[in-house]
Amino acid sequence: MDQSDHFWIKVRTLGQYVFCPRAGILAAEQEASDDEADDDPIRLDFLPEYSLPVIEEQLALHLRALGSWGGRVAGLLIAMAVAWFVGWTLAVVIGAFVLLWLGRRLGQEIRSVLTLADSRRQAITAEAKEPPENATNQTAVNWWELLKAGFDSIRLQESLRDEQSKLAGRPWRVLRKGSLRIPVIKIGEDFYEGGRYWIYPQHEIRLAAYAHLLAACEGGEVPYGIVLFGSTYEGVAIPITAQLNEQFLVKRAEFDRTFAAAKKADPPDEPDAGCCSGCIHGKPEKANADLVQIQTEKVHGRTGRDGKLYHSECGDRFEWIPPHAQAKKKGLLPPEK
Ligand code: SF4
Repeated sequence: MDQSDHFWIKVRTLGQYVFCPRAGILAAEQEASDDEADDDPIRLDFLPEYSLPVIEEQLALHLRALGSWGGRVAGLLIAMAVAWFVGWTLAVVIGAFVLLWLGRRLGQEIRSVLTLADSRRQAITAEAKEPPENATNQTAVNWWELLKAGFDSIRLQESLRDEQSKLAGRPWRVLRKGSLRIPVIKIGEDFYEGGRYWIYPQHEIRLAAYAHLLAACEGGEVPYGIVLFGSTYEGVAIPITAQLNEQFLVKRAEFDRTFAAAKKADPPDEPDAGCCSGCIHGKPEKANADLVQIQTEKVHGRTGRDGKLYHSECGDRFEWIPPHAQAKKKGLLPPEK
């Protein structure tokens, strides 16, 4: 392999590559900017906060809003009582509709205040605790306990870049204390249930890659990395062992070979069907008839039981029909023998 086959890769892409080489190739081909997407999922409702001053600021704001919505509800109830007393039935009916809407807003504020108050309580009552630096096993951790132990939580403004390994990325947060540098990533709440958690090789390799980047760009020691679960404050510390480091380096080198081969129309093999069943890249979507007709897009689709043409991102790129659960449901796959 010559030097031109040594590609830049983002840490998140490497994680996808570990999950499935085809997913890694798709992600690598779509890498447009230098930056990595944030681990915080886009939610339109209420986002958990990870800093006590921010929680207290938000709590004060929501308490003010709660008072204001509560005042409006009380005012409206008084107005409705007066309207009822003087026999303005229509005004009472209109008031009831407005009350419903106000009640919803009030309910939202009450939920926000309760959530923030609970987060504040957890932050204040947490006791300082951190994983041992020489741990070789995974250790359960709590965000507030780590902050109480003296770690500063840093949100990097830009991705870290290492010219030598051609690796770039930005963990969700970096915890710093003395010479310790701890990368933190967040994964979905589906990986955590009542104290049990599920960590997969793609998460471990991501942490090892961020550890490599931090050591290369900032120096210091990175004995472990942390995975936090969704909007909880619970997580697990994964030791960055010599063995995990070795696995990271192997995957990093393997990616270059696979990506170079994929560029020469030699794609990676199909993974196990189980990998594809819930994969977003293999989810069948209805093909846009206009695009198919004028052929501005390469579509590798198949007609489903409903007579419509379906395709997927992975299917188009690798010219196949991924065995996604939806593809099975829509009759896009050959019948099982
Ligand atoms: S659909 Fe299957 S092959 Fe395609 S990226 Fe997803 S897991 Fe990989």
